[in-house]
Formats: sequence, structure tokens, C-alpha cells
Amino acid sequence: MIALGEARRQVLGACATLAAVEVPLATAVGCMAASTVRAHSPVPGFENSAMDGYAVRAGDTAGAPVDLRVVGRTRAGEGPASMGPGEAVRIMTGAPMPAGADAVCMQEATAPGDREGTVRISAPVEPGAFVRRPGDDVAVGQVILEAGTLIGPAHAGVLAGQGLGRACVYPRPVVGVLSTGDELLDPPAPLVPGRIRDGNRPALLAALVQSGFVPLDLGSVPDDETAIGDALEAAAARCHAVVVSGGVSVGDADLVTAVLAQRCAGTSHWLQVAIRPAKPFAFGLLGGRVPVFGVPGNPVSALVSFELLVRPALRSMSGHTVLDRPVARGVTDEDLARAPDGKVHYLRVRAAFGDDGLVHVRPTGAQQSHVLAALARANALAVVPDGPGLAAGSVVEVVLLDPDSLAGTGPGDVLGGGA
Ligand code: AMP
Ligand code: MG
Repeated sequence: MIALGEARRQVLGACATLAAVEVPLATAVGCMAASTVRAHSPVPGFENSAMDGYAVRAGDTAGAPVDLRVVGRTRAGEGPASMGPGEAVRIMTGAPMPAGADAVCMQEATAPGDREGTVRISAPVEPGAFVRRPGDDVAVGQVILEAGTLIGPAHAGVLAGQGLGRACVYPRPVVGVLSTGDELLDPPAPLVPGRIRDGNRPALLAALVQSGFVPLDLGSVPDDETAIGDALEAAAARCHAVVVSGGVSVGDADLVTAVLAQRCAGTSHWLQVAIRPAKPFAFGLLGGRVPVFGVPGNPVSALVSFELLVRPALRSMSGHTVLDRPVARGVTDEDLARAPDGKVHYLRVRAAFGDDGLVHVRPTGAQQSHVLAALARANALAVVPDGPGLAAGSVVEVVLLDPDSLAGTGPGDVLGGGA
């Protein structure tokens, strides 16, 4: 057996980062920027008002309260107005500053003046008040997107501010999912004794979607070397990577490892990883290029293997530098029982913030690798090192599979969502 860290090094080391592509901004969000972009024009591009109110000459307001003659009005999208001493222009947010004005008095600090067509400025206005200057937001030459940044909605807006509609990113890999097993039967065929529904394929396809990869359903094949090998080779033409479940263990029908040895010329590995669940893992490069990840058939093992080995590899292929889920240090509220076996155990648990603000965990049920419902109830994996297990109250590392699911737990209501 090898440690998980060593298995990861071997797998990640063989997975090259995909070639960068240009994509529309909305598609780029969630991807890693592949090139650095500098601003070629300032934002704002012109002096404009930060408030609805009146454009003034600050000097005219020194002796406020003072009444100024309103000589015009200007709104966002119009060309600049102009005004002279003792005058004001009614101005809306985003409208260009009138020639002759150097400050804005916000609407709330004004009142109608004594005479028709005048406005009362109630207090002195500083020069430059509520004026947005060219380049305030983005200056010419400024880096607005650095290569290796995770692109978020605000980056899309900043790029759009330069008139750009696309960004150069590492693409989301298209990942095929293939199931293997003589026992698998797809709907609508009725179940017959000895046969089972294919749960791994929908689960792995969903896991890909959840992590922002592009899933491709490759169906299922029986435990037959030619069928498995041909399905994988056909997939290599359409996918950046393939996840195949089943057939990586030591049973008579476990053929995936052998197929990878035949079809992945010199690049295949069969790993025995010192973890539970998901000890066996097969890996190879189809055509020397397209990674195939062979995960165990047991449904919990398949998904844990995806989390611990496949997902980091796919993230690395998509240019990510942070490859893993967030890991919290928590407290277990129940005993996390296990026996020493040389492996690190990843127990299915429910994590939530307690009233003490700490992450607390409880197992979600039986921990055998066929009990998928316990993983469905879980939102985290508790990492229990080799040994006799952890007693209730112990500190435990927790892999947060769904960090958002901790929302709404624990103390505090800074967002005002409470009753
Ligand atoms: P294997 O890794 O192929 O030896 O399969 C281990 C266990 O997982 C067996 O009980 C299989 O029936 C089960 N299994 C394999 N593939 C799937 C699948 N796609 N969906 C649900 N269970 C599966
Ligand atoms: Mg099988």
C-alpha cells in the first residue's frame, strides 16, 4: 500500500494542464485565467457624478447656506452640460460633470431656493465631493486579470468595462463516465435476480457537474476486456479524461486494470492506496494523452475515490492551484470507531457549526462501502488516522464536501436571515 499523498503525486504528475482557450465571459466564471490582462482604457472614462444632486462650484458654497441658479439638468448617457459662477446643474448619478463644475452636492443636502429656478445648498461642499475621476476604478496599464486567478463575476464585469467579451482560460475538462459490470441493468429493463441498477454512473456524472466539469455519459459495458478497452478508446477521441468504475479490485471479473495495462502503453498503474474506503485505484493514459481513472465499483468507494484522487487531478488539468475541498478542524460528538489496519479512514459524517462556533460532526450511518445512503446524508468526511479510532469530544480533521451546507448552522445572524 502507498500513502494517499504518494498516490496523488503519481496521478497528478501524469495529468497535463489542458491547452488554454478563449471563452465568453459568462462561461469563464469559475475557470482559471490563462493569461494576464491589462487595462487599455481608464474606468471611469470621464469625470461623472457619484450622486443624484446638483453640480456646483465648491467655491460658490463656502458661505452656505446659499442659493444657486439652476441652469440645466443632465443624466447618465448625455454629453456634458456647462455652467458658470453662481450656477448649478441638476445632475444624476453617472452623468458627466458639467464644464465649470468641480463638486456635487447630494440631493439630500439641498432644498428649493427662495426664488423660482434656484436651489439652496445647505452646507459648504468640498472641491471634488462626489465626483468620480477618470481611472478611479481602473487605471490604464493596471492588471485587471492575472494569469492563475480564479475568475469570478466581478472579473467578468471589469473585463467587460474594457469592451472585452471573452477571456483566455484553462477549459473545464470534458470527462466521460463508463460503468463496468455484468450485473448492471439500465432502466427501463426490469430488474431480474442477481442484477442491479447502475448507481455509479449517475453519481459520478453528478459529481462532475457539482465540481464544474463537463460530464459525458459513456454508458456501461459488461466485464469483458474487449468491450471495456474499445469503449475507453472510443471515449478518448471525445473526452479530456475518463472515469471508469468497477473492475479495479482482485476479483475474477476485475478486468479494468488489465485493460489499462494493454491499452495505455507503459503509463498504467494499479495503486493500492492506504485509505478506506477506496483502496484500489487504476490509472493510465490512453494514447499517451487522455487520463483514465479507474475507481472501485462499490458506490461509496467510487465517490470517495473521485473526491480524493480524481477531482484533484481534474482540477489540476483545469489549471487550478487549490485542488482540494476545504478541510476544517472539528470536534466529534460521537465515538468514531475503527480498528487499526494501516489505513486512514474517511468516515461519512454530518458537519455543522455548533453554538460554540466550532465544527461538530456525527457519523451518518453504517460505514461499509456499499452503504451509499449514509454518504447521501453526509456533507463531510471525517479523517480518522490509523489506530483505535477517536472518542467523542476528540478533535478531528473534516473534509467539507459541501461547505455551503454548513450555512444556517451555528450561532450568529449577521446576514439578517433569522426570525
Ligand atoms: P467491483 O469493484 O466491480 O468488484 O464491484 C464492487 C461492488 O460494487 C459489487 O457489489 C458491484 O456489484 C458493485 N458495483 C459495481 N459497479 C456498480 C455500479 N455502477 N453501480 C452500483 N454498484 C456497482
Ligand atoms: Mg465488477
